[in-house]
Amino acid sequence: MAGWNGKSKQKPVAKKTSKSRPNTTLKDKYAVCLMCGKTKTMNQYYASNSLLHKNSHVPYCKECIRRVCSNEDGRIDVEKFKQILKEIDRPFIYNVLSATYAEYVNNMKSKAR
Ligand SMILES: [Zn+2]
Repeated sequence: MAGWNGKSKQKPVAKKTSKSRPNTTLKDKYAVCLMCGKTKTMNQYYASNSLLHKNSHVPYCKECIRRVCSNEDGRIDVEKFKQILKEIDRPFIYNVLSATYAEYVNNMKSKAR
């Protein structure tokens, strides 16, 4: 028996998917919320474009922001929200507001029949 060495079909493997992805790093990171003091994954925080925020996120978790910005009846209080934004110090806040509001609405929808 000659010639062929058992392994017949082998394509040359030229896949190299080992490039580092910046996207994955965000999720892997954790941060401590300045408000509730809990350690949460980065996707629990709103992104920030502010240079003040080295990690590109707001130092307060989404939960806290929503809680603080809500009235007793559960509605978003824009004035409170503005206050927070001041503290965070940026116009990106509008993104946060709309994001928060969207989540709020979704939340209400899922609760409602
Ligand atoms: Zn928090």
